[in-house]
Amino acid sequence: MDTQLDTDTSAVLAALTLEEKAALLDGSDFWHTEAIERLGIPRVLVSDGPHGLRKVVAPDDASIEHSDRATCFPPAAGLASSWDQELVGRVGDALGRECRVAGVSVLLGPGVNMKRSPLCGRNFEYFSEDPLLAGVLAAAWVGGVQSHGVGASLKHFAANNQEADRLRVSAEVDERTLREIYLAAFERVVTERQPWTVMSSYNRINGVYACENRWLLTDVLREEWGFQGLVVSDWAAVDNRAAALAAGCDLEMPSSSGVGTHVILDAVAAGRLSEEQVDVAVRRVLELVARAGEREPLDGFDVDSHHALAREAAAASAVLLKNEAGLLPLDPDHGGPVAVIGEFARTPRYQGAGSSQVNPTRLDNALDSLRAQLNGRREVIFAPGFELEADQADPQLVDEAVRAAAGAETALVFLGLPPSHESEGWDREHMDLPALQLELLAAVAAVNPNVAVVLSNGAAVLTAPLEPHARAIIEGWLLGQAGGAALADLLLGRVSPSGRLAETIPLKFSDNPTIGNFPGENHEVRYGEGLLIGYRWYDAHELPVAYPFGHGLAYTSFGYADLRAVVSDDGRWPRVEVTVTVSNTGARPGAEVVQVYVADPVASVYRPAQELRGFAKVMLEPGESREVSIPLDARAFAYWHVARGEWVVEGGDFELRVGASTRDIRLSTTVALVGGEVAAPLTSRSTLGEFLADAAASEWLLAQLRRSPLGERVIGTHLGKMLETVPLTRLARFPGSPFTEADIDEYLRTRSA
Ligand code: BGC
Repeated sequence: MDTQLDTDTSAVLAALTLEEKAALLDGSDFWHTEAIERLGIPRVLVSDGPHGLRKVVAPDDASIEHSDRATCFPPAAGLASSWDQELVGRVGDALGRECRVAGVSVLLGPGVNMKRSPLCGRNFEYFSEDPLLAGVLAAAWVGGVQSHGVGASLKHFAANNQEADRLRVSAEVDERTLREIYLAAFERVVTERQPWTVMSSYNRINGVYACENRWLLTDVLREEWGFQGLVVSDWAAVDNRAAALAAGCDLEMPSSSGVGTHVILDAVAAGRLSEEQVDVAVRRVLELVARAGEREPLDGFDVDSHHALAREAAAASAVLLKNEAGLLPLDPDHGGPVAVIGEFARTPRYQGAGSSQVNPTRLDNALDSLRAQLNGRREVIFAPGFELEADQADPQLVDEAVRAAAGAETALVFLGLPPSHESEGWDREHMDLPALQLELLAAVAAVNPNVAVVLSNGAAVLTAPLEPHARAIIEGWLLGQAGGAALADLLLGRVSPSGRLAETIPLKFSDNPTIGNFPGENHEVRYGEGLLIGYRWYDAHELPVAYPFGHGLAYTSFGYADLRAVVSDDGRWPRVEVTVTVSNTGARPGAEVVQVYVADPVASVYRPAQELRGFAKVMLEPGESREVSIPLDARAFAYWHVARGEWVVEGGDFELRVGASTRDIRLSTTVALVGGEVAAPLTSRSTLGEFLADAAASEWLLAQLRRSPLGERVIGTHLGKMLETVPLTRLARFPGSPFTEADIDEYLRTRSA
């Protein structure tokens, strides 16, 4: 905030009555903040998001369908698979532009919650099971949107990783897991991009509502990360308005019909809230109003170029999982008929259901796009095969599909999750595709061995049942309004697939890390798997998976060579520059996503087997080689030290593993890093072992022990080893102990002096 704005804000703040201030902390309808006409304070319009603008036609309308037309880009599940910051930044830029045209000041996104369970009904709206990938891409998105003077709303802060009981459930999660997994993407976006707003989530965290969680909204978000913007509640997330305000939740949305305002006024009158606390939040609302007023609306946006961008993004988001004997791409010029089977080819599932649902400017489907691109050069025979929401196979539709496949050279089979299977508001019960679709696939494959399956689903589905029947599989996620054309681009080889999995596809549902701990019971969900989300779990348990995190094929192949790692430091923290040469070793152009995983094999705390710490996407012509540099900062090696309350790098050897997925590491090297202090501060509860591990304390303690025969018996003996876990104050009570509790306290006092 510049000084000019600050001064203005202060003047306006001084002119407001307490009632007006309280009113400003509540919405005026579903989508606007409150206006104070007396002082010329206008309303601010906010709208969903995230993968397109959902500006409702009537602002008092809570319905999802009635919104103005806007470009529907691939939802985050798709976009994340692009692993492409530059592209995601351009999507953000286009979204920001559409907001400017529509007069929308804040776009309610991105959603950076982790994909803890594959069943979460809203996984399509989230990026990844990995916080680095989610954070980097979301930061690019926010940068793009905000470059237009439109604010983002980073959501849902925090630990909102399921839909079941989402307005009450308490995520029971330890601090290290929160910091390293569930807060990390938020932290990156806040520290790198300063989103205008952060949206506090519905759920509770360790018993305290996110909206009332002062540790989360003030201590961590503002004091540690330096967040400057406004915290807005998720829609109807506020339980106790006074507690929420005191915790740092500035704005309640939507309008609480005056309830929140009264609670604030009553709390001030009763002395439970001070007017200064109210002022802090009001100032943030005024700053948002001022920012929103800085830019004039734009006249219009280029619908065609935004659609073209949606198509480019969709093509980059699909992941080629499998391609036996180069079944894909199809030759557009030569070959027999192509059977296009499956209702999804004609009726695409291109976004998820719920608040993010966009009314697209146009909608491509794969069937028409394939026909248009083939332009009669190869015959296309279509058979829907099934009705999207049917429970049982329709024998007539199956027969028709089998006939189409029997008469074709290749069968493209479009399968996926029907719209009713995943939505905001509820979680899935399993990871299976509908049985009738699998039966159809088997029937088709029985008459034609050249089957490529194209999937449409927002969250991972089990692919193992497809394997015997499909020589190629494209995971198409939900690809937005231009997904149909993008799929045709990929199937016909106009574009080489370049998506990589942002989440693991397990072999079976029961392998997933949250079994037994999802979605919880009695309004609590225990994050029992701790740090071991997604691939961290599958790696730790050495479980085979269907397709690993980071996996994705191209229509070419890549070689890796000359891995180098150069260590430097900034005086305090280590930095490592990883360099590797990547070559396109095949015959077609293609993009490789170079991934760097870090392992810390020897550590004083549990470290996951390997964690993604850097990546780069590089486009290469056939035969081309490029040197790729990926910088790693200290956080790539750090863990959250709960007792010290800080990130620490523990000195020692770290392995750098470079490759094309968690299970396809091509090169690795080891770097030795100098770390910082990792011992927990000594307290009167510290153990004999902890005192002995500290150089100064050990000197003091050994001197004490040597003062008595009992003490001598502890030094370097089996008995001493047995007693290492005993707090020193307890040893002080042993008969014959050479020191007392008072001696320990005195030592700790002099030590800290
Ligand atoms: C969702 C948010 C959304 C808000 C406004 C809530 O139910 O959780 O993501 O932005 O509604 O529609």
